[in-house]
Amino acid sequence: MTGAPRPAGLRRNTHPGLAVPCSRCGAGAGRPCTVPATGQRMPAPHPSRTDAAAERAA
Ligand SMILES: [Zn+2]
Repeated sequence: MTGAPRPAGLRRNTHPGLAVPCSRCGAGAGRPCTVPATGQRMPAPHPSRTDAAAERAA
């Protein structure tokens, strides 16, 4: 067993688009996008939300 240090904050588990709320489906920051019609979680945030997050980061 090696005691290799595990750097924190290296998780790629969260999509960058989650940094901002979604104006499309109303998901809050950090919450996954959902399909308004069915309420099901989407595998990826709405493209417009990803764009908004990219603009905010710029
Ligand atoms: Zn959304």
